Amino acid sequence: MNIAIDGPSGAGKSTIAKELAKRLNITYLDTGAMYRTVALKALLIGVDVNDAEAVEKMLPSVDLDIKYIDGVQHVYLDGNDVSKEIREHRMSKAASDISRIPAVRLKLVDMQRALAAKYDCVLDGRDITSYVLPDAEYKFFITASPEVRAKRRFDELAAKGETIDFSVLLEDIKKRDYNDSHRDFAPLTRTADSTYIDTSDMTIEQVLQKVLSYIEE
Ligand code: C5P
Repeated sequence: MNIAIDGPSGAGKSTIAKELAKRLNITYLDTGAMYRTVALKALLIGVDVNDAEAVEKMLPSVDLDIKYIDGVQHVYLDGNDVSKEIREHRMSKAASDISRIPAVRLKLVDMQRALAAKYDCVLDGRDITSYVLPDAEYKFFITASPEVRAKRRFDELAAKGETIDFSVLLEDIKKRDYNDSHRDFAPLTRTADSTYIDTSDMTIEQVLQKVLSYIEE
């Protein structure tokens, strides 16, 4: 069984997907973390994330691994656990830029499909319902207004000691929304067969109950 969740940045997908996986006792795969890791590799070795040719050349040397420790996903780059580093604000933009490059997507989509075939999974991302697993048993599109998403991101970064101006975060979110939904290859789209949930005025528990009620039905 696979549960596919798509939606824009900061809609609460990963919180929902993580908790869902815990309650259903299945694997959670955060696909955004994979794009962030490829972007981190580029930044570390000085490759421009917008230079498709250079990124493509770099790809065979990207040693990306995913492991679960006490049920929590950890991402490894060249043997190092980079789970924390990829969450920094600068990585969001870099991941969004590098994810436009088809060769990057093809490499990561292969990994995602292999994991989904091997385990019962909840996957969250942008193209899971439309491209990675169009035949997933359960499909959801989770969103919220840009203002609510920017506020959530602000609080999340603040809790980690990173302070970024709210207006900068809001602008970034809007830019990423545009980038993610306007790229040529596997853009963020809401498929007709995905259940739509706007979480702007909902608590995490309310969203979870809604998702679980669809699955139980
Ligand atoms: O979900 P998260 O914000 O961590 O994703 C970082 C970036 O990776 C997104 O802005 C998006 O551009 C890209 N991404 C993607 N496809 C996915 C998951 C993430 O293009 N399935």
